[in-house]
Amino acid sequence: MTAVATDIESAAGVLRAGGLVALPTETVYGLGANAEDPVAVARIFRVKGRPPSHPLIVHIAAADQLDDWVGEVPATARLLAGHFWPGPLTLVLRRGHRVPLEATGGLETVAVRVPDHPVALALLSAFGGGITAPSANRFGSVSPTTADHVRAELGDAVDFVLDGGSCQVGVESTIVDVTGTTPSILRPGGVTREDLEAVLGNPVAVPSTSDVRVPGRHPSHYAPRARVVLVEPEKVVAEAELARAAGHRVGVFLPPPLTDAAVRAHAVVVLPASPDAYAHGLYGFLRELDQKGCDLIVASLPVEEGLGLAIANRLRRAAGPRSSW
Ligand code: AMP
Ligand code: MG
Repeated sequence: MTAVATDIESAAGVLRAGGLVALPTETVYGLGANAEDPVAVARIFRVKGRPPSHPLIVHIAAADQLDDWVGEVPATARLLAGHFWPGPLTLVLRRGHRVPLEATGGLETVAVRVPDHPVALALLSAFGGGITAPSANRFGSVSPTTADHVRAELGDAVDFVLDGGSCQVGVESTIVDVTGTTPSILRPGGVTREDLEAVLGNPVAVPSTSDVRVPGRHPSHYAPRARVVLVEPEKVVAEAELARAAGHRVGVFLPPPLTDAAVRAHAVVVLPASPDAYAHGLYGFLRELDQKGCDLIVASLPVEEGLGLAIANRLRRAAGPRSSW
C-alpha cells in the first residue's frame, strides 16, 4: 500500500519532467507540481477546474528553506514555523521571485508550509525544490484523504499517485496571514487557534468566512453531491425524519450524545466523540453518504473550539449556496 523508495524516485522524476503527482500529507492528499514551473502549475488548475485566481500552497522540505521562497520573513513567521513545522500550519508571506504568479493566483503573497508526512518529506527531498499543491480533488468538492479517493476522482488526469495511507489529521492546514501587524487566521485547520494563541501569547483573529477577502474562500466548498442541511444538534433526528417523509434519501451525521438515538434514515454516520477522530473521518463520512446514494445530509455544527472550529468551517461551506461556482 505505502509508497516505497522507487516510487519516490519515480514521482520526483515526474515532477522534474513537468508532470503532476498526487501526494499524501498529514492533512489531505495534494495534487503537486514543480512550484517553479508555470506550465505544470497551470495544469493543476485545469485538472481541478479551479479558477486561476485561487492561490496554491507551496510545500517545502524544511523551515530553513523559507528564505528561498519568500521575500521577507517577519519574526512572528519564524516563531510559528519553529513551533509548528513540519505540521498543518500554512503561513502567508510576501512572494519571493522563485514563485511564479501562476502559483499565487496573481497575488504578491505566497502561502508556504512544511508537511508532516514521511512520504511528502521524502518526495520533497528527492525532488529538491518546492512542490505547489492544492487538495487533489475537483474544485469545490470533498478533499481526498486516501489514495483511493484521489484515483476515483482524478483517474488518469494525474501522472503518478503516491500512496501514504489515510491522512492522519483529515482536514486542511490552518492558514495564517503574517504579512500584517497582527497575524490572522484565513482558514481554520489542523493547528488550533488555541495552539497559536499559546505560542504567540495574544488572541488571534478569525475573520468571518463570509468576508471573501482572499481568493479561495467561496461560500461553497468541500461539498459532497448530496445537499447538506445544518440544524441544532437536538433537531437532527426530527429533521432527518421529516426529510425522509418528504421522499429524500437522507443521510444523517448523528452527534454525541445522540449516538444511540433511533433514526429512520437511508444511512447514518455515528460521529466519534473526539474532535481528532471526527476531523480525521469527516471527508470520508461525506463521501460514504454520497456513495450510498443520499441526496440530503442532515448534520449539526460541533462546538467551535479546538479542531471543532475547522470542522464547523468545512460543514458550513459544504452546506453553502452552490450557485457561486
Ligand atoms: P486549497 O484550497 O486547499 O488548495 O488551499 C489553498 C488555500 O490557501 C487557498 O484556497 C487560499 O485560501 C489560501 N492561500 C494560498 N495562497 C494564499 C495567499 N497568497 N494569500 C492568501 N491565501 C492564500
Ligand atoms: Mg481544496
